[in-house]
Amino acid sequence: MRTAIFPGSFDPFTIGHYDVLISALKLFDKVIIAVGYNSSKSGYFSPCTRVKIIEDAIKGLEHVEVCTYSELTIDLCKRLGVNYIVRGLRTTTDFELESVIAQANKKMAPDILTIYIPASQEYSFVSSTVARDVIIHQGNAELFMPKGVNIQKYIKAGMVNIPPVKLDKQE
Ligand code: ADP
Repeated sequence: MRTAIFPGSFDPFTIGHYDVLISALKLFDKVIIAVGYNSSKSGYFSPCTRVKIIEDAIKGLEHVEVCTYSELTIDLCKRLGVNYIVRGLRTTTDFELESVIAQANKKMAPDILTIYIPASQEYSFVSSTVARDVIIHQGNAELFMPKGVNIQKYIKAGMVNIPPVKLDKQE
């Protein structure tokens, strides 16, 4: 059975990530979405909330699992016995960043192969950063979310790390 890991911060998981996942499922028998977190960097949504959002997004999809991890991605691959890493590419900047990571991973773990999946044109502008900014400024974040994700539920439930308080111009 061919299994791939789709690692990322997924803070939050977007319609662009979902699109990459659907393509990855055409190539692999199983895809494990791995939410990477770093205890010294809190992120916007907690790792647990990021997983819940992904679980909402993948409801009804078969052959997909979600986990969190905080070790090197190649160590997660080794721990799970997986030899493929899937990453998405939107721009040449993504390619430059991703190829450095893939080369470093290849040096450390020659048997683990990174597969790039290009973004669909309609989602190539979508990023977690944009989605977070829209959420923070109370815009329509649903536009960036996969169907089935009611992002307001997570915001209203207070499952976000509150951004710093900004003062108005002082008189
Ligand atoms: P990271 O912090 O590891 O870059 P992200 O959650 O931002 O994690 O992204 C995970 C992967 O998904 C990365 O390979 C990224 O390039 C890719 N990705 C993000 N948004 C899109 C999109 N709209 N279309 C295609 N790939 C995307």
